[in-house]
Amino acid sequence: MRKKVVAVVGRPNVGKSTFFNKIVGKRISIVEDTPGVTRDRIYADVEWLNYKFTMIDTGGIEPSSDEIIPSQMRAQAQIAIDTADVIVFMVDGRDDITIADEEISEMLRISKKPIILAVNKMDKGFSDNIYTFYSLGLGEPIAISSANMLNLGDLLDKIVENFPENEEYDDEDDIIKVSIIGKPNVGKSSFINKILGEERVIVSDIAGTTRDAIDTPFEKDGQKYVLIDTAGIRRKSRIEEDIEKYSIIRALAAIERSDVCVLMIDAVEGVTEQDKKIAGLAHDSGRGIIVVINKWDLIAKDNKTYNEFANTIKRELSYMTYAPIEFISVLKGQRIESVLKIVDYVANQHALRVSTGVLNDILNEAVMLNQPPSDKGKRLKIYYMTQASVKPPTFVLFVNDKELAHFSYIRYIENQLRKNFKFDGTSIKFIVREKKER
Ligand code: GDP
Ligand code: GDP
Repeated sequence: MRKKVVAVVGRPNVGKSTFFNKIVGKRISIVEDTPGVTRDRIYADVEWLNYKFTMIDTGGIEPSSDEIIPSQMRAQAQIAIDTADVIVFMVDGRDDITIADEEISEMLRISKKPIILAVNKMDKGFSDNIYTFYSLGLGEPIAISSANMLNLGDLLDKIVENFPENEEYDDEDDIIKVSIIGKPNVGKSSFINKILGEERVIVSDIAGTTRDAIDTPFEKDGQKYVLIDTAGIRRKSRIEEDIEKYSIIRALAAIERSDVCVLMIDAVEGVTEQDKKIAGLAHDSGRGIIVVINKWDLIAKDNKTYNEFANTIKRELSYMTYAPIEFISVLKGQRIESVLKIVDYVANQHALRVSTGVLNDILNEAVMLNQPPSDKGKRLKIYYMTQASVKPPTFVLFVNDKELAHFSYIRYIENQLRKNFKFDGTSIKFIVREKKER
């Protein structure tokens, strides 16, 4: 099941970041930080009950001033509506309802998304004041105190209760969910229009929920796809797009819903900081990834250009050298079809399963070629390995002592796996478990 996305919106100073920090303080981090991945503080992974979700602090965006311009407020609410499964609208319980609060409420109400109205700064728990907030028309308000961590558990309960049931395409294994991610102006919407405008592409036009209006199911050469959009690509709003963090939030939400992400980079600009942040999100998510360099027509080329460029990309995005790179020009219609072929291939690699027998043959050979490390006279023993899951391929290594299983040796095992099966376009995850010696 995909990770859900929760957005927190509200005026400045109502306590959004305080709330965010308290919740995130409790998070259990399961993924090791990858060196070189640029991270942003606007989102965090949260675990509550049996749910894992990504929480976005849309308020981390505007400059910290009380004077927020209404258009920013609206942009903040819009991005939450476009990307989140559940929205927490936070107000200040010690303050009157403002026009901005009413305006946002209206936007949220008509969006039909599940909205939770959190009345913050109720430090002594419940107070009569909370009844005023019914007038926002968002249902029953929940009183919290972020600073004192009151009722935060109830709020989290309410969030997970409101998660939508299974996604429409979740059970359909033969459909590849693909998103085009990247900073503004790299050519994402041009690319999508090109693909969908192709003669052999059949676009279905099923109207339905708001989500359907954004996602586009299409079929080509017998393969079914759903193009995941977060409304940022084809329904452009320049004010939003220009704010870097908004484009990162959109990318994050699209990634969560995809099998394969096409990361688009501008050939003229090369890999920028913003590209690196988006790439880091895709890498962390464990989705299939393809790097596509667009506007290749603008580059003066000789016979070395291609290799030099590819090497630079691999160096800049050194944590995802597994991603295939393709050079395209949407303008000239060059290698557009090839991208879809690579999408198919990566989707396959992402879902590849290797039998335990074959895995252990490879493991034995790897261990023979390159002895596992030892520390203070104790040597790492890997008893066996097995594949626990796909998307991304995840392997469990059973060892005598976890401490001895250094990153570099795991990396070596990963390389051996890649030598045999490639796993192109996907990260590989390892879980190391200790097992008593018999
Ligand atoms: P944001 O702009 O919405 O992110 O708001 P902040 O989290 O920065 O909080 C604004 C101010 O409200 C800070 O001075 C916080 O200490 C204060 N604050 C946040 N939560 C509470 C709360 O539950 N009770 C009280 N009394 N103050 C709070
Ligand atoms: P988005 O913001 O990522 O969706 O980018 P757009 O699709 O709106 O494209 C931004 C600009 O780049 C537009 O002016 C496009 O015409 C231009 N563009 C897109 N693809 C190419 C390409 O392959 N070559 C050149 N030279 N320009 C392109």
